[in-house]
Amino acid sequence: MEISSKHFTLEKVSRNAYAAIAKEGSGSVANAGFVDLGGKSIVFDTFNTQQASEDLKTFAESITNHPVTWVINSHWHGDHIRGNQSFKERTIISSGITFSKIKELHPSRINTQKNDLQGLSNYIKSLQSQLTHSEDKRLAYQINFLKELEKSLPTLELILPNQTFTSELSFHGENCNAKLFTLGGGHSVCDSVLYIPEDKVIFMGDLLFVKCHPTFFEESNPSIWVEILRRIEGLEFDIAIPGHGPVGTKEDVTKLITYITDIKEIVIENDRFEEVEIPDTYKDWESPEVYQQSLKMLSQDVNSLAYDDLKRES
Ligand SMILES: [Zn+2]
Repeated sequence: MEISSKHFTLEKVSRNAYAAIAKEGSGSVANAGFVDLGGKSIVFDTFNTQQASEDLKTFAESITNHPVTWVINSHWHGDHIRGNQSFKERTIISSGITFSKIKELHPSRINTQKNDLQGLSNYIKSLQSQLTHSEDKRLAYQINFLKELEKSLPTLELILPNQTFTSELSFHGENCNAKLFTLGGGHSVCDSVLYIPEDKVIFMGDLLFVKCHPTFFEESNPSIWVEILRRIEGLEFDIAIPGHGPVGTKEDVTKLITYITDIKEIVIENDRFEEVEIPDTYKDWESPEVYQQSLKMLSQDVNSLAYDDLKRES
């Protein structure tokens, strides 16, 4: 079964779980999904805009035949939480740290964007004028993504999670059970995953990128990220739904562990990143431009990277 929205493709990945895989240049930006526990259901992440999350809600409720029960925000980044308003009357859950970050950082960001709609509109126009001179696919995606943002802003409301957890939370239904847990922060300050053992499925948020280069931010901690992935690798599952990229498997978790380990070594061994080429294994991954940025980002932290490893060895 495959249902398609303008913003994502919905794929049934197991008996009870569905992955909503983002379409480029749409209002989704990141992936999301839902699980039908039987009589109750969980939506995992809510995309970058309410247009995209409205479609997710419609599909989830028509497929499961009941209102969505719980909504999870995997981490605080906008492309995973800005669609929360479609689920205003539901229980929206995140870790305590994620809740605090959303509350601290999003109100001013959203207000700044709302107050500069004219600036956004002018920027879109300037990009459109460049597009008429070229056939750049990436530029076309960028324009469509910004148009969805422009559409969302006037009615966008920040809806905070209304329930938090510390390390784990279990959900029980007639069809299956689910476990929400966090092992700390790797990609962001705190990343949560949702595991459905009976279906051998795990929703990983941005702890997993499949066939595309992962993004590192100042808040990212590559050493802890690898440790978290190693612990997740030890769980029994066949399907891993990433925050970005197509539906993956356990092999993709292993690949990302190797990627992060490799990139840490490259940063420690090189000081001229312009000369570093993307290794062959990752040549066909999406967003290659992220690779150079990641090397620079990680190099700012190279001493603490070495320190992390020392700490682990001692
Ligand atoms: Zn993220």
